[in-house]
Amino acid sequence: MNIKTLGAHNCESRNTKLTTLLIDDIIAIDAGALTSSLTFTAQRKLKAILLTHQHYDHIKDIPTIAFNSAMAWTTINIFSTPPVYEALSLILGNKLYPNFLEFPQENPALKFNLIEPYKPEQIEGYSILPLPVNHSTPTVGYHVTSPDGKTVFYTGDTGPGLKDCWQRISPQLLITEVSASNRFEELYKRRGHFTPDLLKEELASFRKLKGYLPRVVIIHMNPGLEAETKAELATVAQDLNHPITLAHEGMKIRL
Ligand SMILES: [Zn+2]
Ligand SMILES: [Zn+2]
Repeated sequence: MNIKTLGAHNCESRNTKLTTLLIDDIIAIDAGALTSSLTFTAQRKLKAILLTHQHYDHIKDIPTIAFNSAMAWTTINIFSTPPVYEALSLILGNKLYPNFLEFPQENPALKFNLIEPYKPEQIEGYSILPLPVNHSTPTVGYHVTSPDGKTVFYTGDTGPGLKDCWQRISPQLLITEVSASNRFEELYKRRGHFTPDLLKEELASFRKLKGYLPRVVIIHMNPGLEAETKAELATVAQDLNHPITLAHEGMKIRL
């Protein structure tokens, strides 16, 4: 499995893009940086987009990828839970743009597929298990198993309390978020995000339960706090005696 972190931040600029993963060129998880990162040729390879939740930094490029898909006469499958679908209907109606679920009439650019937490799905040959995490709006993380048995769990935006997730999965790779440095712990915990020390507790609970730690990659960093966050994560890695990698735009991970 080849994973590319197209966007690794929670604030967009010329140098930082919004959280998006691309698996083996065909499945994206979240859509903060699809059209802004991929060439038209790469966009045409995309078969499915899995959305973790409805926050704008995770769905931003849905209308633009839909438009390009309409122009290329292709269809992209979108997967999400019902609350995300409802929120998306604000931008997928006819008010802001054509309704890409019905346009072009003969071959709509988007096909929507509702999923349920805990219910496994087969998508493009990959086994996908959506698991609820702890964020300020309903959010699922995705455990993905490739056809050759490689496994990754991407949490989406989440704060502490993932013990239920850990009990259900044993991924080789964990991609999770750290949105701010330790001095913002109180605020970010309330909003359902990790800081380095909150992540440390969560990883310790994983190790206690499972007897190992997966490879850990961090995304959804706040660019303004990144240097501070990086230094604090280095301390966490040292304390846990386990490497923690900060993602960057275009980073490739091979499993
Ligand atoms: Zn969010
Ligand atoms: Zn976010």
